[in-house]
Amino acid sequence: MSDPLDQSIDHIKGIGVARATRLREMGLTKVRDLIEYFPRRYQFEAEEMPIADLQADQIHTVRGEISACDYLRGARGGRFEATLTDDTDSLSLVWFNASWLRGKITPGMKIRVRGKVKFFRNLPQMANPNWQAIDDETPMVEESKLRPIYPATADMPSATIEKVFEKIIDDAAGQMSEWFEPSLREKNRLISRPEAYKKIHHPATYADAYSAHRRLVYDELMLLQLGLGMARRKRGDRLSAPVVRVDKLLDERIRKRFGFELTNAQRRCAFDIVRDMQSGNAMNRLLQGDVGSGKTAVALYAMLVAIANKLQAAILAPTEVLAEQHFLNISRFLASSGVNVALFTQRTKKGNVALREMLAEGQVHIAVGTQALIQGDIDFANLGIVVVDEQHRFGVRQRATLKEKGLSPHYLVMTATPIPRTLALSFFADFDVSTINELPPGRQVIETTWLRRDQAAKAYDLVKREVKLGRQAYIVVPKIDDTGLQEADVASLDKLFETLSSGPLRSLRLLKLHGRMSSEEKKEIMRAFRDREADVLVATTVIEVGVDVPNATIMLIESAESFGLAQLHQLRGRVGRGSDQSYCVLLSDAPTQDAADRMRTMVETSDGFELAEADLKMRGPGDFFGTRQSGLPQLKVADLTQELEMLKVCRDDAQAILKEDPDLAMEKHRALRDEIVRRFGEQLGLAQIG
Ligand code: ADP
Ligand code: MG
Repeated sequence: MSDPLDQSIDHIKGIGVARATRLREMGLTKVRDLIEYFPRRYQFEAEEMPIADLQADQIHTVRGEISACDYLRGARGGRFEATLTDDTDSLSLVWFNASWLRGKITPGMKIRVRGKVKFFRNLPQMANPNWQAIDDETPMVEESKLRPIYPATADMPSATIEKVFEKIIDDAAGQMSEWFEPSLREKNRLISRPEAYKKIHHPATYADAYSAHRRLVYDELMLLQLGLGMARRKRGDRLSAPVVRVDKLLDERIRKRFGFELTNAQRRCAFDIVRDMQSGNAMNRLLQGDVGSGKTAVALYAMLVAIANKLQAAILAPTEVLAEQHFLNISRFLASSGVNVALFTQRTKKGNVALREMLAEGQVHIAVGTQALIQGDIDFANLGIVVVDEQHRFGVRQRATLKEKGLSPHYLVMTATPIPRTLALSFFADFDVSTINELPPGRQVIETTWLRRDQAAKAYDLVKREVKLGRQAYIVVPKIDDTGLQEADVASLDKLFETLSSGPLRSLRLLKLHGRMSSEEKKEIMRAFRDREADVLVATTVIEVGVDVPNATIMLIESAESFGLAQLHQLRGRVGRGSDQSYCVLLSDAPTQDAADRMRTMVETSDGFELAEADLKMRGPGDFFGTRQSGLPQLKVADLTQELEMLKVCRDDAQAILKEDPDLAMEKHRALRDEIVRRFGEQLGLAQIG
């Protein structure tokens, strides 16, 4: 229990009360927090030397006095030139785009500069060197070294943090235990843990920093893989689920219900699902496929299999609008069958006592709702399968709730945001994955164009042209503030709606839709749009997922730079659902390089998987799933966009360890297990192991 790393920083000699307080304000309260406060990068600090000794193409540090300086006006900020002189020689300095240096560096001033030395006509020069003002007291840099640069605050500059580490790191590292056997470390050419912590904070060379980082990445990914492995075992051990029977007759009966032939990919996925549901163990499967690939059809297949086996099914959508959509689609699909479908939302929760009773008695076969459906005090008679739409979350809590009620269903999670390989190998390692990698026949590629604001007329003309041909359009407005205040979104929607309906789209019938409307209103508007009572639906991102109106052929996205790639792709997937050529128009002045990259990627790529990989690279995994993904553990050192190879190594190594010691119960694994529970226990549902 008394792990030395859990010691409060207050008890460490040499930190001092004032500094300890500031560290605590930064969230660093224990030794363990401190040593895991890693440098963001390193700065090579070269030993100071006389100007006369400088060598070409080397990074050098020198100090001296400014003997002259000059600012040369020119395009883009001009350049600032100065001459630095010491007892031995002079060095010319030049900074480009540096009008701001005027008055900052002045003749007579003493400075120290660091940069790469070049020779022009035998005179040494540095371009854009780092510099700092000094005085005679400023100590010399006596030996070359790498300085760690820490994420700093105003009260706590990097240099101060560095000093704290000088005091504590040897002690702290000395108290660390090694987690892995020497043979494992040798195989992977890893330095020891204490060494890794020392070197990440105090590397002598870049090679040191690299090997330290590599070891820490290994540790982090191992902990995650081991945690996932333990979670999987825990689930697998205890979670059984109803066994279903499927024969040729049932299969044909279900397939006949669809007005179309399932694609090969859909059939393969349905087969995976059936096999899971026949196994006696709870299915935990991720069904991924691009928007419009027909995931819902596959999920429906699975639900009908359950129902034919006298089990109930639940399908959970991320929002109430989408739940209502699913309800409408499924009801229409199952009209004139004996299957009862019921919608459970906030409102029906109070009103519909009768439906809930029917559900509890097993007369309702499919319950449609949001995740709240399962968290609430709703009873099922015999829940066989839960389908979760567009929610990558682990659902640990929901599962626990169901278990408490004595229910142990199969789980099918559907996603149109394909999981990049690195994530699939890490966070989703406990899912089996089925992929629908083909679109239903007859789908065309959606033609995507990117227009600047001043070309908006072109976009609206396209809308008018398509409407004339009898088709419909979506126009989407982004969220304009991040505070979660929907008023602002509604205001921007209202404004655009006004502008369009009195301006360029005057001749068309427009409807608007936003998250602030009551579900009744939303439902009515979606119905009206689907029944072609309007030509254009102007909406916030409430239509992001699941909305399905095959006659809509244009998706016009206003201020498209406000969206991430995954979201743009989702939105684009709302069209191209029928057989008519469809269009996605991105209206954006792309104020940043990053935004321009996104626009270009959207125009060039229609494949969701490629986009997901690109998105992961551009944004990093932390942002990848946005707020929808709040359930994912945070990684500190491992960058999942880079670590595919290391992930594979860790997956195998973790499996080997768990084979010998499935619950990490052996004494030699105790520290490892404690750390896993500490870091990932809650998210992985491991808290009780320990
Ligand atoms: P997803 O949920 O993957 O976005 P859906 O299941 O909603 O896709 O299907 C999109 C559209 O394609 C729906 O209108 C659906 O009826 C239709 N569809 C699904 N599978 C097929 C198929 N095999 N052939 C023709 N149309 C299909
Ligand atoms: Mg869908």
